[in-house]
Amino acid sequence: MITEELIRLTERHSAHNYHPLPVVLATGEGAWVTDVEGKRYLDCLAGYSSLNFGHRHPAIIAAARDQLDRLTLTSRAFHHDRFAEFVTALAGLCGKDMVLPMNTGAEAVETAIKVARKWGYEVKGVAKDQANIIVMENNFHGRTTTIVGFSSDPDAYGGFGPFTPGFRVVKYGSADAIREAIDENTVAVLLEPIQGEAGVYVPPDGYLTAVREICSANRVLFIADEIQSGLGRTGRTFACDHEGVVPDLYLLGKALGGGVIPVSAVAADAEVLGVLKPGQHGSTFGGNPVACAVAIAVIGLLKTGEYQARARELGAFLHERLRELAETRTRHGRPAITAVRGRGLWAGIDIDPELGTGRRICEALMRRGVLAKDTHGSTIRLAPPLVVSKDDLAWAIEQLDHVLQEL
Ligand SMILES: *Cc1c(COP(=O)(O)O)cnc(C)c1O
Repeated sequence: MITEELIRLTERHSAHNYHPLPVVLATGEGAWVTDVEGKRYLDCLAGYSSLNFGHRHPAIIAAARDQLDRLTLTSRAFHHDRFAEFVTALAGLCGKDMVLPMNTGAEAVETAIKVARKWGYEVKGVAKDQANIIVMENNFHGRTTTIVGFSSDPDAYGGFGPFTPGFRVVKYGSADAIREAIDENTVAVLLEPIQGEAGVYVPPDGYLTAVREICSANRVLFIADEIQSGLGRTGRTFACDHEGVVPDLYLLGKALGGGVIPVSAVAADAEVLGVLKPGQHGSTFGGNPVACAVAIAVIGLLKTGEYQARARELGAFLHERLRELAETRTRHGRPAITAVRGRGLWAGIDIDPELGTGRRICEALMRRGVLAKDTHGSTIRLAPPLVVSKDDLAWAIEQLDHVLQEL
């Protein structure tokens, strides 16, 4: 069988830093993918929200194709003719003066850390090398050494020290914890408006508003990592929009690349991003013509509001159905689901660990044609592309129901 052979070669010749489900995908369109044996699956992970617009969205592919035929890379040593349009469009979407394009999410986070520190020294007046940044327990911001150094997940940081100093970890969801940790050397609070990798944890109502107030009152930058929560997933352009909160820096990635190439960015006002002068930060591939063309198409799709509306409507349906499932007793006499969290078309579902692991459930879902991913043992994440049809979504939830009944 071709699947087994490809997996065997993968295991022999690629590092084992992932444990993929045993499926080998070959093609994709919209919310659906097909494996090398011709079996179809509904993609309920969507590349951790990199595929918010589905696989090969026609407008995004057309933009990429067109750009491939014209100019693909210049480096930032020269201007290219798609750059101005991209930065203007993204700054407009974010309501900020400026953007700084990078490639991966982790690079956007690293960029924000550097910018916040430099802003602290040059604008706020923090003493040399004394800046601290407040971060959250159970955060996920990427895989660089600096970033994993303030992770609370032993898998993420174990064995990779020594780490970059200057971070204070506090409890997520507690404004008081931030108030207690802040001092005159604090330059930023960095958080995910919804913690995705942790298991789709939505903070208490009013938390983001309180963080905004605390940051403003203490002259501290509010950095919102919207790499996974942003660009339509939660039913609004940004997860911060649900509280009408505007952070000082937006960090974007994942869906910004339209499911085609890595595109990330930091968006902020000139007082903040203006601290960077030529030579002080950069990226060979950041803001390349193909990245710009793809991101311009993505921003165009978001401007219609259609995808945010789909995420709201389909998300309401998803959460209503999941609540019903969470009340349904299985043959063990109790519900298999112990908690459901999330917002928009994004859900974290905790399964009673006595009934089965998240991995086992995802494997069973796979056999039924639904691709999803477990996290932290017994949580399953659902985040289908925003283009998924209501019927397909209903069908996927039915498959979950069957799998839970069979536990
Ligand atoms: C995925 C993710 C990142 C890291 O993005 P990469 O492109 O994998 O480097 C950072 N922050 C959040 C919230 C993410 O979900």
